[in-house]
Amino acid sequence: MRQALVAGNWKMHGSRAMARALAQGVVSGATELDSVEIVLLPPFVLIPQVAGELADSAVVLGAQNVAAAAEGAYTGEVSAAMLREFGCRYALVGHSERRQLFGETDDLIARRAAAALREDLRPVICVGETQREREAGETEAVIRRQLDEVLKVLPRESVGQVVLAYEPVWAIGTGRTASPEQAQAVHATIRAHLRTACGALADRVRIVYGGSVKPDKAAELFAMADVDGGLIGGASLRADDFLAICQCAARGGG
Ligand code: PEP
Repeated sequence: MRQALVAGNWKMHGSRAMARALAQGVVSGATELDSVEIVLLPPFVLIPQVAGELADSAVVLGAQNVAAAAEGAYTGEVSAAMLREFGCRYALVGHSERRQLFGETDDLIARRAAAALREDLRPVICVGETQREREAGETEAVIRRQLDEVLKVLPRESVGQVVLAYEPVWAIGTGRTASPEQAQAVHATIRAHLRTACGALADRVRIVYGGSVKPDKAAELFAMADVDGGLIGGASLRADDFLAICQCAARGGG
């Protein structure tokens, strides 16, 4: 049985005051939700502040990216060891905004994921197709290519530590949520592909869905067999909406 995971990607939003209020709101509502792992992903500079708010709670801290290198002349990057020192347990890698706006390649994303795992930071690896790729019938091929690059570099025994996020690019921030059937179909493809590459470990990997998940959409998505939670953007900026989504995950979507 895989524990559900719901992560809130704040993107480049917030201030110290907002981070305090939002983290406190999530912590106070999370006390009855121990069957779901709740992760907050604030911008780098707000990590120390949010770490303070999450201390003594079950809510977990993560970052929105992580360097591929351990140390050195990489201006603007933040290493996995630095993130660990400030209390992070997870790091997003390969978000479509990083791929599309900042030119991050499959290879770089794979190396970021490997660097995270070396420091015991769990990568949440995002994969997903664009609208054009879906319409061209390329969804499966795109997802396989993105996954294969990662599987090539990750030590096999660490694959169970990874979280995969299926985020169709056309659904992110657009209000066009994938249907539960569309999400399940791709999640099942991901799991089957993982099973071919790593055998039974595939059943330990949590595969979460991201793309315009709102409280009214979450239950039906999380009810699908291979949807193990969500990666939430816009709706994670309001504690009540985010908690409502976490409640759906705690109920297993039912
Ligand atoms: C995201 O940023 O990963 C995301 C899924 O955003 P939204 O929920 O706003 O579509």
